[in-house]
Amino acid sequence: MERGYFSEDLVPRIKQESDILEWVSRYVSLKKTGQNWVGLCPFHSEKTPSFTVSPGKQVYHCFGCGVGGDVISFLMKMDGSTFPETIKVLAERLGISIHQQRGAEADRAEKLREELFQIHRDAADYYHAALLSHPEAQQARDYLRGRGILKETIDAFSLGFAPPGWNGLQQFLTKKGWSPEPIEKAGLIIAKTQPASSRKHYYDRFRERVIFPIFDLQNRVTGFGGRVLDGSLPKYLNSPETPIFSKGRQLYAMDKAREAAGKFGHLVVVEGYFDAIAAHQAGIHSVVATLGTALTADHLERIHRFVQTVKLIFDPDEAGIRAALRTVDLIIPSSVAGEVVLLPNGEDPDSFIKNQGAAAFNRLMSQSMKLLDFAIRQGLADPAARTIEGKLRIVDRILPAIRKVKRAVERSYYVKHLAESLGLDERELTREVAQLGPINIPGALSSSASSLPLLPQEEQILIHLLVHNRVTAPMLLQQIDQDHFTDGRLRQIFNQCVESSRSRGEAVRLDTPIRSERADPQLDSILSALMVKEPDYDDSHQTLKDCIRTLRVKKIRTAMKSLESEIRDAERSGDNPQVKSLLDKLVGLKKISLDVNG
Ligand SMILES: [Zn+2]
Repeated sequence: MERGYFSEDLVPRIKQESDILEWVSRYVSLKKTGQNWVGLCPFHSEKTPSFTVSPGKQVYHCFGCGVGGDVISFLMKMDGSTFPETIKVLAERLGISIHQQRGAEADRAEKLREELFQIHRDAADYYHAALLSHPEAQQARDYLRGRGILKETIDAFSLGFAPPGWNGLQQFLTKKGWSPEPIEKAGLIIAKTQPASSRKHYYDRFRERVIFPIFDLQNRVTGFGGRVLDGSLPKYLNSPETPIFSKGRQLYAMDKAREAAGKFGHLVVVEGYFDAIAAHQAGIHSVVATLGTALTADHLERIHRFVQTVKLIFDPDEAGIRAALRTVDLIIPSSVAGEVVLLPNGEDPDSFIKNQGAAAFNRLMSQSMKLLDFAIRQGLADPAARTIEGKLRIVDRILPAIRKVKRAVERSYYVKHLAESLGLDERELTREVAQLGPINIPGALSSSASSLPLLPQEEQILIHLLVHNRVTAPMLLQQIDQDHFTDGRLRQIFNQCVESSRSRGEAVRLDTPIRSERADPQLDSILSALMVKEPDYDDSHQTLKDCIRTLRVKKIRTAMKSLESEIRDAERSGDNPQVKSLLDKLVGLKKISLDVNG
């Protein structure tokens, strides 16, 4: 389906001209080792780099979690974008114009997404222009000035204003050529229920509000937040869930925070648009905001692609502390380390930065506390913690969280810490942790997935020789065929290599048979692993000969074994002519096997 979306030679061309090193480097800091580059995997949690990029082969592979593929699959995973979206991004970078053929049934969803992005872009322009020059926007401008938002910040965040009135946006978008249906799907207008009339009527969702466009990592507007200027309710209104917008996944200002977050190794999560904007305006760029929802596992998964640590800011009051404790169950089993920052009483990040300045805010960030340390300290602060019942309550609350800590050494540290803090026996607590049963971490990234499944050694080496151009598919075909491969996945890769060399008439240069749009990620994983793996044999000519011989011997042995069992069957049923003919075959095979071995 997705192939037909673009002209036929586009995808191979884009793969050939794009530089995987350039793209991966935007997200992962890489060091050169031999032919390859390595870094910390953005897809699983690790302390030593096993994420490998081969610029020569234009593939990546993680020997920790097994993910692998080409530049397209990397960007799809990283940005959570679709195949066509990724192709577009890559094409744009290369300056290749793409001709899309629309209308195919399966492309409809893709077309809608594309339209929604464009409608949001147009709407953001409308709101922004309205804020700058609409006669009724004066109070919005005054409001932003009153909150200390500078003109540069208004531009940098493309802040806007939805004028009063019921259909200003709709009229603007209609003039731009949009029909009501996609605008409604974008969540920007709402249908009025008017049973008497068959024609639908609509009104603008956002009216008389300051508008915060929400950008994704490709700098596309995917939704809006709107804040009232007076005391009316709801104070904040967000776009509804649409095919391009999800509150539980997106974070405000992530597009602007990404770079700084990578530099500092952490991301600060605040709760409000103004908190995030104030931080960025003060030069603190590693700050994002949730969109009026609590942090989710999806958020954490996205965050983990850029940083290992997330710092959460809470009010020091009871509600804030409870909110902080609620994140324990979410964050501890995730791949992200959680840290807590408590603001002084009565402050939010916005007011704190304004009153105390950026340096004080940074100082506060540097005093963040590990989430579990914080939870234990909060438990101890409770006067009830002095009684044995109180202590057991704390144990009941905190042990399940400690159990979910991923690293064993960290787990035992916390058991010890908790035991010491409460004056309990450490061994007893350790036993209790064990009694809670095996750890089942829902939603956590599996880091135990082995990189390369156990593959027959010689078959694997043959494919390695093949993808590293030490032998061509036609040369191999003179001595073995696909039946020599006992592993189905390696056989499939072998066949792809054969097919690709046939169709391109290229004997030597093998086109990467990795295909990001393919549904079998395990195949890509094996292939990318073999492609980035540097040879561990010295003499490839001899290795090739040895592997081919082994494969042929193995195949003959298998054939001989099945012949032998057929012979036994024939003997049992007294079928002498059959026994005779099978024996002849067996002798023949034995001769071949001697030849192969010799
Ligand atoms: Zn990995």
